Amino acid sequence: MEKTLAIIKPDATERNLIGDIIKMIEMNNFKLKRINSVHMTVSIAEEFYAMHSEKPFFKSLVDYMTSGMVVVLELEKNNAIEDFRKLIGKTNPEDAEEGTIRKKFAIDKSHNSIHGSDSLESANREISILFG
Ligand code: UDP
Ligand code: MG
Repeated sequence: MEKTLAIIKPDATERNLIGDIIKMIEMNNFKLKRINSVHMTVSIAEEFYAMHSEKPFFKSLVDYMTSGMVVVLELEKNNAIEDFRKLIGKTNPEDAEEGTIRKKFAIDKSHNSIHGSDSLESANREISILFG
């Protein structure tokens, strides 16, 4: 069984979408192995998104991810990483397919409601940052 890391981001927790998003995750046969609510510190958010540190959106991304409570989930399923990226949809909800979490709930490409690991290496790294 493969594991992946999901984060229900501040724009979604703020709009009371935690239940709706977890419902979609469970309906798609992901098992919730661990779940935690946290208010990320700047240093955790900077470490988590270190690969984007040179991007023009880095500072606004860190500000946003530390602006409120997030829900962190460790999910398990066969082919979890790829299947979860499919379930969340493209980064920009305008490009995301119908039925995806981002198409349904995201506000825009920055405030896009959910994170999902993009590779096995990322999943392991992200699980260890957020669950230790
Ligand atoms: N992001 C942003 N502006 C951009 C691209 C990305 O604010 O132009 C934010 C957005 O919240 C995104 C996160 O940075 O989810 C990480 O970007 P990435 O390209 O890795 O997208 P993801 O893997 O989340 O689809
Ligand atoms: Mg990414």
